[in-house]
Amino acid sequence: FVTIVVFLYFRRQYTQVPNSKLIASVNPEYVPTVYVPDEWEVPRSLVKMSEEIGQGSFGMVYKGAMKSADGTHDLPCAVKTVNVMAADRDRIEFLNEASVMKAFNTHHVVKLMGVVSQGQPTLVIMELMGLGDLKSYLRSCRPDNADDENAAPPPDLKRTLRMAAEIADGMAYLSAKKYVHRDLAARNCMVASDLTVKIGDFGMTRDIYDKEYYRKGTKGLLPVRWMAPESLKDGVFTTQSDAWSYGVVLYEMATLASQPYQGLSNEQVLRYVIGGGIMERPDDCPDKLYSLMRLCWKHKPTVRPSFLEIVGILCHDVSHDFQSVSFYHSEAGVDLRVALS
Ligand code: ADP
Repeated sequence: FVTIVVFLYFRRQYTQVPNSKLIASVNPEYVPTVYVPDEWEVPRSLVKMSEEIGQGSFGMVYKGAMKSADGTHDLPCAVKTVNVMAADRDRIEFLNEASVMKAFNTHHVVKLMGVVSQGQPTLVIMELMGLGDLKSYLRSCRPDNADDENAAPPPDLKRTLRMAAEIADGMAYLSAKKYVHRDLAARNCMVASDLTVKIGDFGMTRDIYDKEYYRKGTKGLLPVRWMAPESLKDGVFTTQSDAWSYGVVLYEMATLASQPYQGLSNEQVLRYVIGGGIMERPDDCPDKLYSLMRLCWKHKPTVRPSFLEIVGILCHDVSHDFQSVSFYHSEAGVDLRVALS
């Protein structure tokens, strides 16, 4: 597997793929060839699109509004589109990727609101996350952006821990649903206008319902700097490897989205992490955050905390207002004394 990763790394040098990910060829056997419309289908006439938000990998994403089921009011939404020139195969892949979200209904995972698969362009309607992805949000809070009068102040420790608890809560829900994310990173978390953070991208999520783990090393994209040693070495992805990636997200929060393992090449990161290396405490990083990172970066996967335990640790450390109804954690009825013992 390491050989394949190194090969892919070198291939990347010549293909200039953005986003610090490595591209591997996709086995056509795994690409579904149909999309069957279901109860998520909404008539196109109910969806209005307004300004552009940004470019997605399949097409433009717009701000929009969708009529409520009773037709009485408009719900704000984000509308993902597929480029009209795209091949049918891409349209189907886009719809099938979005379909992963049909199985989830919890506060800290971005909600799917509907799908328009009939006619052109293909649309996927999602809960609107007004401040975009967490990585861009963190970068926009950097002091070097202070000249920009719209620049937000960096989240303080309390807010950072709250955001961390929200991400862990979304992940606890996914993990209870037996989903392994495989690509947890700040770029794949989304920030709402009120600063609530939710898990927001399922491009690489895989259902492992009746398997212990997902083991497929060479398919898709490999976000090396977020990957646990066992994922890098053996292609093993579990909820424990998601916990490792969560530790890297904490690092991103503590550094306003610095690149993890800055100064090391992807190949060096791979060797360093497989060899037992972890990142040092970032400058000015509070103890609470770094000690949680270190728990998530335990080399042995089974020693890492579960996401429910992480929410428990964060609730315990900060304040009781985390125990609000919108936390899956509180629905799960977890006894914190058990979680912390
Ligand atoms: P893709 O996963 O198709 O590549 P992205 O998730 O990268 O698309 O989204 C492209 C742009 O749209 C980004 O700027 C992202 O912040 C924005 N975006 C995606 N989903 C939402 C959403 N639910 N609410 C607000 N903005 C969104």
